[in-house]
Amino acid sequence: MNNFEFKNPTKIIFGKDSIEKLENEIPKDAKVLLLYGGGSIKKNGIYDQVKTALTKVEVIEFGGIPANPEYAVLMDALKVIKDENISYLLAVGGGSVIDGTKFLSAAALFKGDTPWDILSQNIRTEKGMPFGTVLTLPATGSEMNSGAVITRKETKEKLAMGGPGLFPEFSILDPQVITSIPRRQLVNGLTDAFTHVLEQYMTYSVGALLQDRFAESILQTIIEVAPKVLKDPTDYQAASNFMWSCTMALNGLIQKGVPNDWAVHAMGHELTALFGIDHARTLAVIAPSHYKYNFEAKKEKLAQYGERVWNITEGSMDDKAYAAIERTEAFFNELGIDTKLSDYTKDYEGTAEEISKRFTDRGWLGLGEHQSLSPDKVEKIVKMAY
Ligand code: NAP
Ligand code: FE
Repeated sequence: MNNFEFKNPTKIIFGKDSIEKLENEIPKDAKVLLLYGGGSIKKNGIYDQVKTALTKVEVIEFGGIPANPEYAVLMDALKVIKDENISYLLAVGGGSVIDGTKFLSAAALFKGDTPWDILSQNIRTEKGMPFGTVLTLPATGSEMNSGAVITRKETKEKLAMGGPGLFPEFSILDPQVITSIPRRQLVNGLTDAFTHVLEQYMTYSVGALLQDRFAESILQTIIEVAPKVLKDPTDYQAASNFMWSCTMALNGLIQKGVPNDWAVHAMGHELTALFGIDHARTLAVIAPSHYKYNFEAKKEKLAQYGERVWNITEGSMDDKAYAAIERTEAFFNELGIDTKLSDYTKDYEGTAEEISKRFTDRGWLGLGEHQSLSPDKVEKIVKMAY
């Protein structure tokens, strides 16, 4: 096992009707900016629950953060934070609203020229404006990690940011919120969380037995609950297991002491930036090609995953590893997710070259657990995903 340090300060308040506990978590003298997305919270009752819970603190609102949180919209929110002397942020939404709030937390205290530098120059946030979240969509794990991904339409970019100052102080997880989530987003959530685990697991072995089994147990749980959640989103047991699996998939725990990949996300982000494809779907497009292209380096873990997660017991290690990739792609397809870029756009010619060029320009010359995935290899993987 590799050396590691682990600290996760986010308080999780999990369970039925937990939104009622919101006010206990926010300082009484705070001036709060409540941030939300396109308005789903006003239709499904979550907005009313939040407003009912917040009786004593002063609250101002900013709605309209779009899926794939957009820089220009967030800059409008930043103006509100400054004009209104906001001291505390409250995100009520999915990964997009939470990530947008993390950007604002960083930008509100940023001393540099333009907040875009936080993303383009990869500036770590050591201290941000304090914030909490009410999660409405299990998927990203953003509710218990310190990362965010921000989109800039103007330049068709989607870049990541983070730092120890960007953990939520608390996150409220009431699994009942999933009853109003459209099927498309449920499926995205299952796929995003599943791929988060793969990014931290499908690498070479360092003998970290417990991390491997943590990862496998999250994958198994997602596979088990997926059909139940999709059949009946009011199934509370399925919903609570789904929600907690998504949080555990990316709260830092399973990535400690083991090599991490994250190349699938790096390539996937470009497909969202270029074509607007849902984040989770870009991962399902890239992952099978990525694992096939890097088969030799990953086959031992792929075979272990095939055996332990999918019960693939026949054949050689190579056979099991290959079958595991096929089974993963089939799982995405069974959820209703297309796994070829050409299923999403007819305009895919040149995409691989463009992504490869972007990575070269950014100096991303060696991605993956071996820092060996060069832009020319990225180009080949994206082409395999056409
Ligand atoms: P999302 O973009 O936050 O939300 C997708 C859609 O679901 C929105 O239209 C939203 O509506 C709707 N929705 C949310 N909760 C709902 C509910 N309870 N009922 C009905 N509709 C609901 O989706 P997401 O998958 O959570 O986030 C994706 C973003 O997170 C991407 O930008 C991705 O890159 C990023 N990401 C971040 C991390 C991280 O660690 N920080 C990891 C992976 C991905 P409203 O707009 O009305 O809210
Ligand atoms: Fe993701």
